[in-house]
Amino acid sequence: MDLPVFRAALDDWLDEHDAELRGEHAAGGSLDDHMDQLSHVKRTAYDAGWMRWGWPEHVGGLGGSSLLRAYLGEALTSRDLVEPGIYSMTEVLVPTMIDYASPELAALMVPRMLRGDETWCQGFSEPDAGSNLASLACRAVRSDDGWRVTGQKVWTSLAQYAQRCVLLVRTGTTESAHRGITALFVDMDTPGITVRPIETMHGAPEFCEVFFDDVVVPFDRMLGDEGQGWAAAMDLLPFERSTALWHRAAYLHRRLELLLDAAPAGSLDPARVGEVTQLLYAFRLRSRATQYRMASGGQLGAETSIDKVLLATVEQAVFDLAEDALADQIVLGDDDAAERWRSEFLYSRAATIYGGSAEIQRNIIARRLLDLGSDR
Ligand SMILES: Cc1cc2nc3c(=O)[nH]c(=O)nc-3n(C[C@H](O)[C@H](O)[C@H](O)COP(=O)(O)OP(=O)(O)OC[C@H]3O[C@@H](n4cnc5c(N)ncnc54)[C@H](O)[C@@H]3O)c2cc1C
Repeated sequence: MDLPVFRAALDDWLDEHDAELRGEHAAGGSLDDHMDQLSHVKRTAYDAGWMRWGWPEHVGGLGGSSLLRAYLGEALTSRDLVEPGIYSMTEVLVPTMIDYASPELAALMVPRMLRGDETWCQGFSEPDAGSNLASLACRAVRSDDGWRVTGQKVWTSLAQYAQRCVLLVRTGTTESAHRGITALFVDMDTPGITVRPIETMHGAPEFCEVFFDDVVVPFDRMLGDEGQGWAAAMDLLPFERSTALWHRAAYLHRRLELLLDAAPAGSLDPARVGEVTQLLYAFRLRSRATQYRMASGGQLGAETSIDKVLLATVEQAVFDLAEDALADQIVLGDDDAAERWRSEFLYSRAATIYGGSAEIQRNIIARRLLDLGSDR
């Protein structure tokens, strides 16, 4: 299906089904509400076909360009039907499943994620391995019944809701840091897994500590071969820094429009509004080019660090502007709108951390794109 035809038909469908899509949890502000709303919207959109376009047919998709699903994400977030951060897990994790899981596993699992029947999480970061991910220490050793995993992950978004985890483990020696990593697709109800949610400063237990105590993972749950975990992670991270950010920009656009409506007269400096608008358009143009590159079969790589830096910059600029214009409401307000602006302002601080910190993105740009020195 062509993008213009898809856009028009999807917009009509969304208009027609707006009330149905805004289920009982749409107005709620808690993470539980957002998760229930996300499943409801994904299920409704999947059953009507929309959630399947842009994904390959061998994993339950209907085929077509990835631009189709980029527009679906844009439409759902800008209509405030889903929370953009939790929606993006699909864009982050499903492409890697398609690229690295066995065809049978991908065909079985991907439709569950697309339909919102399951949530998956990403177990990469550890207490001593964040920016320096290759130093991760969560270990898996071979046994007769599969890999036995022992160790800890941290900042694992949505782990308390997840049925599965894309998990990086060390299976080789630390001397061969990158080659000694393997990616596993782990059932979160396997005995030996303990999940402890962490409350963030914006008040939602969005991420978790996850402990693995001799957890058995069958060998057919490897994503790629033993030792290919670093390649799988490098496949995944550019999606986290690019396609997943396209619909986030649409959501920021909508919030900026609402801010301009909500701000008291005289509370906004027109020059700053201009600067923020310019940052937003710069990001959207950049992200648009990335979507088209991916849709035409181009590989995403280090260039996506530019997308991530621009996104984090504009996200913080939008909510800095909100903090200035709506200061009383954000600091003192106790209605739902005030709570939402306050929560979004606080959460925007995370934009320079999640998906790789701003400093790390700048290191990648300097070293790998501008050739300003070696990695080490
Ligand atoms: C909202 C949110 C959700 C997240 N979700 C997940 C998830 O689902 N799964 C997951 O695995 N992880 C997740 N993370 C973790 C995230 O990927 C890490 O926080 C991030 O990679 C930074 O690692 P760290 O926290 O260990 O900080 P550190 O690596 O300890 O860095 C601390 C500071 O030092 C700077 N620094 C470190 N090394 C360098 C260097 N070489 N040059 C310059 N500066 C440097 C960093 O930029 C940072 O400012 C999430 C984080 C957030 C905030």
